[in-house]
Amino acid sequence: MFRLFHATFKTCMLLQHPLKPLTLKLLSPLFLHFSPPTFSSLLSQSSLQFHSISTHHYDPFLSTLLLALKSSSSVSICRIIHAHVIKSLDYRDGFIGDQLVSCYLKMGSTQDALLLFDEMPNKDFVSWNSLVSGFSKSGQLGYCLSVFCKMKSDSVMKLNELTFISVISACVSEKASDEGYYVHCCALKMGLVFEVKVVNALVNMYGKFGFVESSFKLFCEIPESEKSMVSWNSIVAVCAINGMPDEAFNCFDMMRVNGFFPDEATMVSLLQACENFPLGRSVEALHGVIFTCGLDGNVTIVTTLLNLYSKLGRLNDSGKVFLEISKPDKVAWTAMLAGYAMHGRGKEAIEFFERVVKEEGMEPDHVTFTHLLSACSHSGLVMEGKYYFKIMSDVYKVQPRLDHYSCMADLLGRCGLLDDAHELIKNMPFEPNSGVWGALLGACRVHRNIDLGKEAAENLIALDPSDPRNYIMLSNMYSAAGLWSDASKVRTLMKAKVLTRNPGCSFIEHGNKIHRFVVDDYTHPDSHRIHKKLEEVMRKIQEAGFMPETESVLHDVNEEVKMDMITKHSEKIALAYGLLVSNADLPLVIIKNLRICRDCHNTAKFVSMVEKRTIVIRDTKRFHQFSDGLCSCGDYW
Ligand SMILES: [Zn+2]
Ligand SMILES: [Zn+2]
Repeated sequence: MFRLFHATFKTCMLLQHPLKPLTLKLLSPLFLHFSPPTFSSLLSQSSLQFHSISTHHYDPFLSTLLLALKSSSSVSICRIIHAHVIKSLDYRDGFIGDQLVSCYLKMGSTQDALLLFDEMPNKDFVSWNSLVSGFSKSGQLGYCLSVFCKMKSDSVMKLNELTFISVISACVSEKASDEGYYVHCCALKMGLVFEVKVVNALVNMYGKFGFVESSFKLFCEIPESEKSMVSWNSIVAVCAINGMPDEAFNCFDMMRVNGFFPDEATMVSLLQACENFPLGRSVEALHGVIFTCGLDGNVTIVTTLLNLYSKLGRLNDSGKVFLEISKPDKVAWTAMLAGYAMHGRGKEAIEFFERVVKEEGMEPDHVTFTHLLSACSHSGLVMEGKYYFKIMSDVYKVQPRLDHYSCMADLLGRCGLLDDAHELIKNMPFEPNSGVWGALLGACRVHRNIDLGKEAAENLIALDPSDPRNYIMLSNMYSAAGLWSDASKVRTLMKAKVLTRNPGCSFIEHGNKIHRFVVDDYTHPDSHRIHKKLEEVMRKIQEAGFMPETESVLHDVNEEVKMDMITKHSEKIALAYGLLVSNADLPLVIIKNLRICRDCHNTAKFVSMVEKRTIVIRDTKRFHQFSDGLCSCGDYW
């Protein structure tokens, strides 16, 4: 539990010495003999304009130093200010000593901060609290806890909620659950769990660690009259980050019943809660709330909404939201571009990019180019992709990163230019990562190039031996090429490493509820009807020419059993359920937590044709929009 407590924290060791090292260092001619221009130029480096700097007028000088400290951007500026404090001021003046400590910590100079803290006479509780807060903000949990323990063992000092909030926040950012639990125990012992601010911080902490029950327990223990806006926002956020949209909406309703009005934080959490689920109606409802609460002018919220519509397969709605933003910023432009990329709308992405860069003056950065190249790749626009890959550094001075190389490998590979893709990877200025090799492997699988595919898969397995997807891809490739013994070797290797895939599950929204299905699922109340519908649909599409592809099944079982397993994949069950309950005029939206298999992809294509429905399936890689027997991905994903 106390693994982080070993951080060194030297206190007061220097007090016996009349000359303290940091003071000595700062009193050296180097620091003290500044001519005024040097000093003012350094202050202006800290992005502030000073009209007069006079060492003779006490107050303006102190406030100048305080302002300079606030905007200080380097340790050297901090040290210069420190030197002037030693020369002309007292550390207690305007709490400048405490602020110097915070500033050293902000600049990452822990040693300077600790030495100064030791040297400072008359430290009070505020000084100690600002040290804890400084360590917390700079992510140094070990030091933060050391100071906390020192304060705790001091009989005179009485810790307050600010101390606890700082330490809890350090535990959250370092994901230190044991330490967080310890701090909670201390708060209990000291009676600080009645401070609503401390409880809010704990609610948030347990939520971030995934201990939702503890968060709820603490939240419920806050008396109704003391629950603040922050308390409600914390519990909504806890539900959102833990994938519990229903609970997030319930808390939101309760919050409103209790007379609280949603703000930016509430909305962002609720929108995030919908992100991984097909919650079209809830998103529409939120859209309404955003307008009625007057939050539609908030670019962050509206951009999150735009993103969400796009993730739900509703790019047109994203476009409408975008048009309603009065002053779109770079984040909004990038989100719209990402939408085009995700939906494989390469041409529109290029048009949009050209327009916002040339007419609206957007300066593209590496994220912009990742989306643009990925849009080119998803639409097979080789020439365009190569052009933008070249001009991104030549014209826009954005150096290509790994993401851009993986987009290019994907783009070339998708069009069958496997050798070009391989050449690009070999000549990359840095080590290719799994994204780059994964793109090549995907291309080799589609274009059935075993040799190159093997090289890509071996590199992937070397990079991450624990990821079962790489073994599955390699084994599938061998099976597809009829190399059964090689395929079985890979599977044996995978079994020996005890690697299993995440269980696949699919989500579909109906009647204001999300319905979740796993493979061979019979748990749904309507499961009898759903399976009957699935059998009926499978029969219909087979009559229309559908051929099952059992290569996607990895288990060593005979063909008949394989057939049975593959027809019960979660997305097929979700699809049957969707057909059973949804309105024929609306697209059927399904979200899958893994990549869709070849057989389910084919099934969706046939179903879209036979049932005359638009089906949208979002898997981990991209969107598939099926209609009239075709998929928007062009069978490449
Ligand atoms: Zn499948
Ligand atoms: Zn597709």
